[in-house]
Amino acid sequence: MPEPLAPRDLLALDRQHVWHPYGPMPGTATPLLVESASGVRLRLAEPAEGQSELVDGMSSWWSAVHGYNHPVLNDAARGQLERMSHVMFGGLTHEPGVRLAKRLVDITPEPLQHVFLADSGSVSVEVAVKMCLQYWRSVGKPAKQRLLTWRGGYHGDTWQPMSVCDPEGGMHELWQGVLPRQIFADTPPAGFDAPPDEAYAAHLRELIGRHADELAAVIVEPVVQGAGGMSFHSPGYLRVLREACDAHDVLLVLDEIATGFGRTGTLFAAEHAGIAPDVMCVGKALTGGYLTLAATLCTTAVAEGISRGELPVLAHGPTFMGNPLAAAVADASIGLLLSQDWAREVKRIESGLTEALAPAGELPGVRDVRVLGAIGVVQLDHPVDLAAATRAAVREGVWLRPFRDLIYTMPPYITADDDVARIGAAVCAAAREG
Ligand SMILES: *Cc1c(COP(=O)(O)O)cnc(C)c1O
Repeated sequence: MPEPLAPRDLLALDRQHVWHPYGPMPGTATPLLVESASGVRLRLAEPAEGQSELVDGMSSWWSAVHGYNHPVLNDAARGQLERMSHVMFGGLTHEPGVRLAKRLVDITPEPLQHVFLADSGSVSVEVAVKMCLQYWRSVGKPAKQRLLTWRGGYHGDTWQPMSVCDPEGGMHELWQGVLPRQIFADTPPAGFDAPPDEAYAAHLRELIGRHADELAAVIVEPVVQGAGGMSFHSPGYLRVLREACDAHDVLLVLDEIATGFGRTGTLFAAEHAGIAPDVMCVGKALTGGYLTLAATLCTTAVAEGISRGELPVLAHGPTFMGNPLAAAVADASIGLLLSQDWAREVKRIESGLTEALAPAGELPGVRDVRVLGAIGVVQLDHPVDLAAATRAAVREGVWLRPFRDLIYTMPPYITADDDVARIGAAVCAAAREG
């Protein structure tokens, strides 16, 4: 083992050399140094705001649904590590990869039968887009190359996903004119329970119809738009998209990277609408937050179309494709999820957040408070003061990472009622001080 470094030295080296998400180099903010994590708690190397442990309100960006250091996932990782941590997937296969693919086929909407394992959510979206474009090329409609999405979305940080992120006010605004130009519908009207707006549905149908000749696919996040604005919409719009895509020969891609594995109250958000996409991306909670892994699933029609083409293969093969360690943990994580009444836990957190976030509605500067499944959002009427909001949450013993005008939480499903209440109180404190 190398000599341990003192926290102060680690933070100095971090600032000097380490690039953090969406940050400048060298860094300007000092991150909290995490020493270990267990259950729903992050243990800090040095106390912050008098707290040496923080309840995690973020599930490490939607992923750690079972909490940290879980014995079942630890065993899966350890067991696989002793067999092999990795072998290439070209010309070779292995049990964890096959088991995981079968498991994903079994739990996702029935028409999805084939699985491409990718190394991150963004890559799974790249693969989804490549599948759709190549499908149309293979079946003799090469002009169908563009994508349609609605505004307010987020699909990742690599190039194709960036082109379907919200083009305004988002982090990728800088690249307008450089990115492929996609077709944008208006943001879906807000409200999971709001009756679908007929004028908006007509707008979607009209755009898809008008651009059908050049459209390869419609790609959206179903029901919850995550990093594009944490907003919820009626599942009815997904049915509108499904029908319009069918009517106009356009593929439908659902990006379930954030919504998958129970977060919105159904195993996949598409189930709220009772529809199946042609292509679907999953990631984030796939490995329970242990390792990086994502997957792109598609129907037999899409797979056969591609495999009949002039280039009858999908030309994509990440070096670490199908990583056995990640696949074994993912299979164990899905098994663990399905072995419990996860839907009841998500409902329980939904009730807890609804109660605990209600006081935020009375605060000055708060525009909206909304909860769906194990997701709670407080939207301000101004950009959040990130440092002040984070400090306020940490003082309450909770880890939150607000962005834009949003203070939000999606806790691990194992979060106990008193910790859900504590997270809620921290969100309110962050809203007051941020
Ligand atoms: C996080 C996210 C992605 C990107 O996944 P990465 O693993 O960060 O590349 C894509 N789509 C949605 C909806 C996401 O929430």
